[in-house]
Amino acid sequence: MNVVVLLGAPGAGKGTQAPLLAARLGIPVVATGGLFRAAVRDGTPLGLEARRYMDAGQLVPDEIVVKLLLERLGRPDAAAGVILDGFPRTDVQAAALDRALADRGSAVSAAVLVDVPAEELIRRMSGRWICRAAGHPYHEVFSPPRQAGVCDLDGSELYQRADDQPATIRARMDQQLGALGQVIEHYRASGVLRVVNGLQEIDAVAAAVDAALADAGVTAAG
Ligand code: AMP
Repeated sequence: MNVVVLLGAPGAGKGTQAPLLAARLGIPVVATGGLFRAAVRDGTPLGLEARRYMDAGQLVPDEIVVKLLLERLGRPDAAAGVILDGFPRTDVQAAALDRALADRGSAVSAAVLVDVPAEELIRRMSGRWICRAAGHPYHEVFSPPRQAGVCDLDGSELYQRADDQPATIRARMDQQLGALGQVIEHYRASGVLRVVNGLQEIDAVAAAVDAALADAGVTAAG
């Protein structure tokens, strides 16, 4: 079972790399942010509770996130492994994941940090827009839609998530970079941390991720 953790600050490019890597390894991406947004859309009790934190640019409490993640890991399509995007975000979450995997005779295979400096992150993040219908992502500078404010794929309106607006981004980065540091140290201590340079073209980052995984002994078959 391959359990690959992708680490990086918001906007570092994890969300771009995760599906590319999933296709190469043949295992699904589990993104806690996406699971929460689905719960919010569906209006579930968990979604309603999570929304208060998300809109304020804060982390959802560990207990709620861990519950959601463990439920997702129990589904059949996760049996061969998963790529985790956006989890763990705190050392408490990292320790909970280690325990849950140890119960199954498994462990995190590799934690790959996509490393990007803070100033560049703010520049990237504040231009992000997504569509109402399906959450298709755009960026004012890096991948603008053909027509401003309209999704190329389904024609729905584009909007900025409350947590992609600049003031929220600052608050969220201050909080999350601190917690991310703890998670990085957690995996450094267990020897599975690999760092790739996120200031490269998408293909070059993907190649660096592959090299890092090979170094950590992760292969498509494993
Ligand atoms: P993301 O799409 O990963 O940027 O996540 C969007 C929001 O969902 C975050 O700003 C948090 O409020 C919440 N969230 C997602 N994953 C986690 C996590 N592992 N721990 C705490 N909150 C999370």
